[in-house]
Amino acid sequence: MDIERDVLEVDVLIVGAGPAGLACAYHLMKTAEKEGVEAPAVLVIEKGSHPGAHSFSGAVMDPAGIASLMPDYLDQGMPYEAKAGKDELWYLTDKSHLKLPFTPPGMGNDGNYIISLNKFVSWLAEQTEALGVEIYPETAGFDLVFEEGKVTGVQTVDMGLDKHGGKRSNFEPGTIIKAGVTILAEGPHGSLTRQAREKLTIFDKAINQSYLTGVKEVWEIPKGRLEEGQIIHTFGAPLPSSEYGGGFIYKMSGNLAAVGFAVGLNSPDPTNDPHRHFQVFKSHPSIRGYLEGGTMLHYGAKTIPEGGFFAIPQLYDDNFLIIGDSAGFLDAQRLKGIHLAIRTGMMAAETVIEAVQKEDFSSTTLSVMQKKFDQSSAKAELQKIRNYHQGFEGGLFSGMFNFGFQFVTGGRGLFDRRDVGPDHTHMKKKAEFFSGGRQPKQPMKFDNQLTFDKLTDVYRSGTKHEEDQLPHLVIADYDICNGRCIEEYGNPCQYFCPAQVYEMVENEDGSGVHLLLTPSNCVHCKTCDIADPYQVITWKVPEGGGGPNYENC
Ligand code: SF4
Repeated sequence: MDIERDVLEVDVLIVGAGPAGLACAYHLMKTAEKEGVEAPAVLVIEKGSHPGAHSFSGAVMDPAGIASLMPDYLDQGMPYEAKAGKDELWYLTDKSHLKLPFTPPGMGNDGNYIISLNKFVSWLAEQTEALGVEIYPETAGFDLVFEEGKVTGVQTVDMGLDKHGGKRSNFEPGTIIKAGVTILAEGPHGSLTRQAREKLTIFDKAINQSYLTGVKEVWEIPKGRLEEGQIIHTFGAPLPSSEYGGGFIYKMSGNLAAVGFAVGLNSPDPTNDPHRHFQVFKSHPSIRGYLEGGTMLHYGAKTIPEGGFFAIPQLYDDNFLIIGDSAGFLDAQRLKGIHLAIRTGMMAAETVIEAVQKEDFSSTTLSVMQKKFDQSSAKAELQKIRNYHQGFEGGLFSGMFNFGFQFVTGGRGLFDRRDVGPDHTHMKKKAEFFSGGRQPKQPMKFDNQLTFDKLTDVYRSGTKHEEDQLPHLVIADYDICNGRCIEEYGNPCQYFCPAQVYEMVENEDGSGVHLLLTPSNCVHCKTCDIADPYQVITWKVPEGGGGPNYENC
């Protein structure tokens, strides 16, 4: 369809108003002011209904990032739930738990803050706008725009197309935003990052990224169940030792608590279901006592990039930078990425100010970003644990051995730079997985007090989409879903999606089942795009403003 589009020109376009993108915009303005140079025209676009609407994390934040961005962050009113207090690591058995007598080196939370990421992001957006940065919410980047092989900006999504691609009465074509430099800060496994991966060479030398899907609920719990700032992390049950993941409970302000569970998408189990694992986790005898009698208020899910140092791409190209979770900046051992998102945002800002002065956004000039990272504490932090996640490839116990060994080998562990392949390649076909006596799980019964089905949880995520729009989940070949996948994998999408977007329903003529999609349930976690064994699912942005509306998450 030939569509005439408005063109908007800016110096700097940042895709994503999360911690990385906002830190970049904030630091651009502050650095320009400090250096006495004219501030560039900066535009931040955000697909959520407002900054923070799609921001979702545990979260216990290392304040090192915000302290370097805004040394007086507490005076400026940074919202936090509690200062980290009693900090415990538990190994869960089926019926009980074993508290580790010490916190493993590097995993303590002294000096950290329990935060709600979406409140933190809303606040950081206000601080950033106060410096003159334009933030456009409800504006989703649909395509990277290329000219002569170089990124020159982003086309935003068309609004007002119906589910068949026809124009509704409110049709508005997406705008082409041209920029001297386009900075991707769209979170884990973003759709523009996917395009950058396909069309640029920046990922060529990186190993495959590895992901977990984390699901979380925020609860109001009876008074006195947890101490102020208490943090509990768990590993072990309900996962077998061959799978990677664990749970957490964080005491928030008032009587609120965040409880969540994350599981690796490199699971061999074609029925791997992060939402189900989470419900079983909450029912564990050592966990349920914290929640019973309370009320579940909010829900959300997101993928977590855990591949580490070697999965980070080249951070620059002509007219292009990539930062934060989009580039995989996450300390998997400490379960922390917000401080790294902020720091890489700041590095990008300093790089761009130099480029603006030179009026040169070529890759040669923007390669300063890579040098800044190479000389940074962020690199030192990630190098020290560079093979952490991959160490668990052989299961929990060899992973723990590798974890210990990395301390005496300066981060190398048992091997160096191990590429364990894309997550979806780890999934076994059901005939193989369920051979040897392993039985498929029975459907779970939810009591609606402690455990909830996916639809109830989605309702608590505030998710809304325009129903009559082009599906943002593109299935390249339904014949695979309704044929081979039924036979070979048993349609894993109906399990791994934490929002019940994918269901297998009976054919009208009783001849079998077919895949039914309900994209309006989607909480934008990106699990399907990563975990689908045939890689026929592509997650694209829906109309701007659609998706979750997280609160206290
Ligand atoms: Fe996540 Fe995909 Fe389900 Fe949306 S459809 S909630 S991105 S798994």
